[in-house]
Amino acid sequence: MTKLVNLPESPIECNNLIAGEWVGPVKGERVGVVSPWSGKDIGSVPMSDAEDVDRAVQGAKAAFEDWRRTPIRERTQVLFKFRQLVLDNIEELSHLAAAECGKTVAEARAGVLKGVEIIEFASSLQNMDDGAHLEVSRGVTCETRREPLGVVAGITPFNFPAMVPMWMYPTALTTGNAFILKPSEKVPLTADLSGKLILEAGFPKGIFSIVHGGRESVEALCDHPDIQAVGFVGSTPIAKAVYSRATANGKRALGLGGAKNHFIVLPDADPDVTVDGVVRSFTGCAGQRCMAASLMIAVGDVDHLIEKIVEHTKTLKLGVDMGAIIESSAHERLRNDLDQATKEGAKLLLDGRGAKAPDAEFEGGYWLNPSILDQATFDMECANRELFGPILSIVHVKTLDEALALQSKSPYGNAYSVFTTRGATARYVAENAEAGMVGINIGVPVPREPFSFGGAKASKFGSHDMTGWGGVDLWTKLKKVTTKWALQPDATWMS
Ligand code: NAD
Repeated sequence: MTKLVNLPESPIECNNLIAGEWVGPVKGERVGVVSPWSGKDIGSVPMSDAEDVDRAVQGAKAAFEDWRRTPIRERTQVLFKFRQLVLDNIEELSHLAAAECGKTVAEARAGVLKGVEIIEFASSLQNMDDGAHLEVSRGVTCETRREPLGVVAGITPFNFPAMVPMWMYPTALTTGNAFILKPSEKVPLTADLSGKLILEAGFPKGIFSIVHGGRESVEALCDHPDIQAVGFVGSTPIAKAVYSRATANGKRALGLGGAKNHFIVLPDADPDVTVDGVVRSFTGCAGQRCMAASLMIAVGDVDHLIEKIVEHTKTLKLGVDMGAIIESSAHERLRNDLDQATKEGAKLLLDGRGAKAPDAEFEGGYWLNPSILDQATFDMECANRELFGPILSIVHVKTLDEALALQSKSPYGNAYSVFTTRGATARYVAENAEAGMVGINIGVPVPREPFSFGGAKASKFGSHDMTGWGGVDLWTKLKKVTTKWALQPDATWMS
């Protein structure tokens, strides 16, 4: 039998990648990295401070000048090599990502492949860049040049150790920036393996750096005067704090935050598409993703669909269909959330507590089966707070407008889905949903390249998006050049 996941045989010591060299933190502080699968230490990570950040910035600044003058076609050649190395090493990357963040290996592999799509999009920019050139007056031309910003930074969460960093750095690097990654301290191993592949691909030293750590390193990145832009993905309070701090320091910033994604189910919904879409969405990555649809708004009588959702959910196997919860405190919190919901009056149709590890090797891990709470009301915690676990809450309403009104009350606006077979209903929802990303008969409506990823309301701080063309705009600036070479006899105001 193939193993569910390969945990590292001995703990891996992660290091910062500064000016192309792997180095420990200046002050030597480290914390352990625990696998959610086993509850055991699988590595250690530096907790860097402002001095480590400054060293990374100096290395990046030194490399940037040559890199920005390197034509995009040459920069892209290195990215091609990186793409091939990612594919050649996809099994190791997927097992490592799964081992440190708890998801299944299949889910981790899907994340890497989504990252590869972004590498491919970034590689295509050499042919698609939309620089414009126009004669605006007699003998006078205007052109736009898309230029890199300089040294930029990306701060990422635990739940997609390979993919979320790849939302940022392929586009930032191809467009000529020097990029500093600050991965989640819970998942540093995949970041270091990605860094090794980046060096092997031939990116110049200092063009891609890694600074590990927590709050101190993030604040130092937001404060450093030589960092031009900060991309952040994580929970809403930290997204807001990072966005505010970086922009107060004059930087460009985009902070993607948390979510509580609603989806509407109507009586006319296709049963197979709905049941599959709903169960995959709330149980995928054990509910630990910002696109998880965790609040079902049942419009009218959809009990036949709820029964099928419960039955299908019961068939899922831990370790194969669903992974573990990131850490023991989150595991405990989710168990308490179920207690709280039942105290508030929700009806537990499926109780995920009492789950067993998929294998003796994983008995110390943080396992929870999926849970379903029916008869929730919108004022209950389970219906309005991001629980970030495999818990589906169901609220019943009578009309579509009541369903949409609930989303309007939610502070979040990441994703919103509707399950229906009526085109007019789908269109009405797409027009009225207050979310950045809408799914029609799709539970996880992640836009694929070249479309951009980004929510609304408290799920996003800043005006750009993260991937696709939004990412190109985020990591570049447009310079406008107006040129005249010849003196014109019939001069206009510009000549
Ligand atoms: P988190 O906010 O705890 O951590 C994200 C990053 O911020 C990490 O690198 C962490 O080291 C850093 N950080 C933590 N506390 C900090 C502080 N006080 N000051 C400065 N930096 C700090 O998020 P997480 O638990 O790693 O990830 C889960 C959250 O991320 C969920 O809320 C989820 O919805 C969200 N998320 C959002 C998206 C999106 O695209 N909107 C994608 C993935 C995850």
